[in-house]
Amino acid sequence: MGIAERLLAWYDAYKRELPWRENKDAYRVWVSEIMLQQTRVEAVKGYYERWMEVFPNPAALAAADEDQVVKQWEGLGYYSRARNLLAGVREVCAQYGGQVPEDEGLVRALPGVGEYTAGAILSIAYDKRIPAVDGNVMRIFSRLFALADDILKPAAKRQVRQLVAAHMSAARPGDFNQALMDLGSAVCIPKRPRCEQCPLQRLCQAREQGIEHLLPVRTPKKEPLPVALAAALIVKDDCYLVRKRPPGGVLTGMWEFPAIELETAQKNCPAALVAGIRQQLGQQIVVNAEAYHFIHVFSHRKWDISFYQCSWLDGGELPAGAQWAHPDSWSQLAWAGPHRKAAQAIEMARLAQ
Ligand code: SF4
Repeated sequence: MGIAERLLAWYDAYKRELPWRENKDAYRVWVSEIMLQQTRVEAVKGYYERWMEVFPNPAALAAADEDQVVKQWEGLGYYSRARNLLAGVREVCAQYGGQVPEDEGLVRALPGVGEYTAGAILSIAYDKRIPAVDGNVMRIFSRLFALADDILKPAAKRQVRQLVAAHMSAARPGDFNQALMDLGSAVCIPKRPRCEQCPLQRLCQAREQGIEHLLPVRTPKKEPLPVALAAALIVKDDCYLVRKRPPGGVLTGMWEFPAIELETAQKNCPAALVAGIRQQLGQQIVVNAEAYHFIHVFSHRKWDISFYQCSWLDGGELPAGAQWAHPDSWSQLAWAGPHRKAAQAIEMARLAQ
């Protein structure tokens, strides 16, 4: 038996029961694949089920407003995924009558849909014989064929894609791709692959050479850049000053307490916060004690953020995107990561009073 036959027999026996596998609807597959980018299966399950209750089909999602969509995504991170999904689904409703097209070029042209996602949607929903090569598949095929190239290089990805295309099942391409996903998650795992449980062990060159633990070859990632921030908890008439993060940076459109990035030498410097709030929002404040401190790690950045209790003194009209918000209304806001932690801490303190 070849790769496809062995893999599919194993998949039929051991495949994972997952909420997005209940049927092969293209919209459902699309949502699951976008949620699963950078996020573990276990973390996605609950979000996926809640999402499908609120937005059960493309029309329901297309009619939603962006704030509602981002709120539904809150906690999953990488919020541009939610915005792109919304834009893509609106395009599908406007151009294709709410039906995800079957043409690879048209699917690839949708916002947020890359080569992998297009392959997953088209193979699973429409039985198209198109590879879906992600990190799991790169790892499995690097080992199967004992590939020595760095898998982060585009040439290595092209090579693996060709190998997958050559070996994938013609009759069950969607199951073939999903079987690779399951194998990469449960058997051919990054450290200590469980080769004795693997349906492909007899075909695996890395296993034969005893080098499976050395593959795939990967140049180490850069450490996230440390960024120090100070945020102001400014209270006026029981309301806090909050604003939407502007476009162009991380967490665009998410809500935050106004914050500034600090130079290394200014770290936790209240004077810089006073000046920053005056400059950005036209408000005069006095910075009091530090209330909370969080470390929040993104893929490329590591925020070291301190939240200061501040007294409001004076100020004019707020710029667009900023407002005074009472804590009772905060559950409507989609907060940027560490700002959500601060908001929760404030709400807990209020409840304890
Ligand atoms: Fe991965 Fe081991 Fe299977 Fe090879 S035999 S594909 S290294 S789990």
